[in-house]
Amino acid sequence: MDSPSPIDRRQFLKLGTLAATAAALGPAYSNAEAAPVYTLAPLPYGFDALEPHMDARTMEIHHGKHHAAYIKSLNTALASSPELAQMPLEKLLASLPAVQDEALRNTLRNHGGGHWNHDFFWNTLTPAVKSAKPSPDLAAALNSAFGSMEAFQKSFAEAAAKRFGSGWAWLIIKDGKLKITSTPNQDNPSMVGLVPEADLGTALLGLDVWEHAYYLHYQNRRPDYVTAWWNIVNWSMVSDRFAAAK
Ligand code: MN
Repeated sequence: MDSPSPIDRRQFLKLGTLAATAAALGPAYSNAEAAPVYTLAPLPYGFDALEPHMDARTMEIHHGKHHAAYIKSLNTALASSPELAQMPLEKLLASLPAVQDEALRNTLRNHGGGHWNHDFFWNTLTPAVKSAKPSPDLAAALNSAFGSMEAFQKSFAEAAAKRFGSGWAWLIIKDGKLKITSTPNQDNPSMVGLVPEADLGTALLGLDVWEHAYYLHYQNRRPDYVTAWWNIVNWSMVSDRFAAAK
């Protein structure tokens, strides 16, 4: 990343005023303003890079508004919980049942899950490459678990279609076995104690089936969105996750 540019005197005076205001309002305000725990990473490709399967306007709103909003709410919740703010996000999500405050737990579940899921999602996608395929190892595991690549895609699409309301479809691995599952809202397969045991595992592939992910372009046609989505799956990333998890 670029290093921060040196600040001039005018900026310095402005920052000084802000710091003084923050100090007057107390440390919680100061921490929340000075250093949000999580920030929105830029997409690893352009907003229009996934066209025509995912349109640029949807990507812009999905990333810049929806994902950004999850991060903002997550940071706000963590501003009053410094001990939770220090945990890596995956550990935080796996530790949620230990959070006593129910409102805080629900906020972290929804917005922490929202942040993790979307980061994962953007990195699971890549501009259409016709030759992209699972690694030989992953292809063999998919064939063994589901019968064929086509059968796997059919079952995955069914899980995505059947998820009532908002949520996610997942390919997970647990104890060396591949499995398709789905979760409501912004839950994910790492949420021990919140998500049913059968749906827990290491996520390899995840599909956002919230309407905000497809409605501008596909309206109510979720199955068409799922069919198009296969064209932009980053199989190289999914194969790396598989190799690391098995
Ligand atoms: Mn989403």
